[in-house]
Amino acid sequence: MKITKPHAAMFSSPGMDHVIPVIELAKRLSINHGFHVTVFVLETGASKFANSTGVDIVNLPMPDISGLVDPTDHVVTKIGVIMREAVPALRSKIAALHQKPTALIIDLFGTDALSLAQEFNMLTYVLIASNARYLGVSIYYPTLDKDIKQEHTVQRKPLAVPGCEPVRFEDTMDAYLVPDEPLYRDFVRHCLAYPKADGILVNTWEEMEPKSLKSLQDPKLLGRVVRVPVYPIGPLCRPIDTSKTDHPVLDWLNKQPDESVLYISFGSGGSLTAKQLTELAWGLEQSQQRFVWVVRPPVDGSSCSEYFSVNGGGAGDSTPEYLPEGFVTRTCDRGLVVPSWAPQAEVLAHRAIGGCLTHCGWSSTLESVIGGVPMIAWPLFAEQNMNAALLSDELGIAVRADNGKEAISRSKIEAMVRKVMAEEEGEEMRKKVKKLRETAEMSLNIDGGGSAHKSLCRVTEECERFLKRIGNLARGA
Ligand code: UDP
Repeated sequence: MKITKPHAAMFSSPGMDHVIPVIELAKRLSINHGFHVTVFVLETGASKFANSTGVDIVNLPMPDISGLVDPTDHVVTKIGVIMREAVPALRSKIAALHQKPTALIIDLFGTDALSLAQEFNMLTYVLIASNARYLGVSIYYPTLDKDIKQEHTVQRKPLAVPGCEPVRFEDTMDAYLVPDEPLYRDFVRHCLAYPKADGILVNTWEEMEPKSLKSLQDPKLLGRVVRVPVYPIGPLCRPIDTSKTDHPVLDWLNKQPDESVLYISFGSGGSLTAKQLTELAWGLEQSQQRFVWVVRPPVDGSSCSEYFSVNGGGAGDSTPEYLPEGFVTRTCDRGLVVPSWAPQAEVLAHRAIGGCLTHCGWSSTLESVIGGVPMIAWPLFAEQNMNAALLSDELGIAVRADNGKEAISRSKIEAMVRKVMAEEEGEEMRKKVKKLRETAEMSLNIDGGGSAHKSLCRVTEECERFLKRIGNLARGA
């Protein structure tokens, strides 16, 4: 049988925040670029994200890592061990495939699987679902001398990154501050393996990160350490579900004026301290602005899983115990408190949303840009501080919450909320972010050859050439 279609095998780390971008890329490769795609996952339930798109989802058994890690180990260490232990199962599944893959695409913790490339004669790519700045800094930093690293992490000097904005000490990644711990070692092990692939796909586009991308593609700047082509393929996000219309949050938003509501969320896992939650509640209340707040109990509090009614009052007031007494009643004419989870992508795309207070996770950042809303950047951990610097200092589409050691006061929060939602500065940022949204749309444009589309065309051509060469070799040409 003559095989003309390239076949991409994709291997996703566990966790829906890893699986979703992998499947979204799989869909693009299949629908727009003629790939046959098989996605290997360790999550049951992943197939619902790939419904009828021609992408095959294959479940691998979740390896038992109980004897290999300590329960207290960092999640990065645990995921790395799971991915390493899953390689033999991946190997057997690939060996059993009818059509051998032309390319293997791994995500950021799947680097142990790169060893399969030679055995099965595949091209390899790394998908970084985060941004170019994260990619550049995380490959560059481990290559530096100890003294230079310490100037940054001990003497707290900004880290100079070729061709990019320096990283302030306050914004540096947590892993760099613990160089003797497994977290740092594991993180670096993955980052240093990325240049062994044939290319790196990164979830960004030129107008979003002009400096970092240019540097990564310039052999005299970060391109010197990355060494392989970097393909911007963003924005890659979970698609907005237009059939999701009967959700209580969307119902409430339908009754609000255009661009009048601030959406507040700290991602899938972020929490605040009890003191900070109290200040945020008072700051919101004092700002007098409309809001939807996805609220979680403080880090030391108990969990709750129901929608709080906004109709309560007096003894019936349903304010959770960790918010100021009577908060729900006092704000019920302009605010909605949602425990734990909201359909965020759909919320941010709603016409009533005018701003987003975010922890600056990359998906939330992209969803805000696609929603065309300016942000209050309130980073919590990992690369979120660098993302916040990009949004506020480089792109000017966010005000930055100064989250030092102290809780941010209610008066500062009130001022930030008013700035984004009610003042001229917020309006300017809104205009900028809407322009950026246009560039995001252009990047994805298939007919006009947007930059994300062009990147994937280049990857496709490379795979097709490779496929042809293998075919010729097999025929002895
Ligand atoms: N999310 C959501 N509802 C919530 C909180 C989060 O749908 O109430 C989704 C959000 O739309 C985004 C993802 O969870 O797609 C969070 O990813 P991000 O990279 O922003 O942050 P992380 O959770 O990884 O810190």
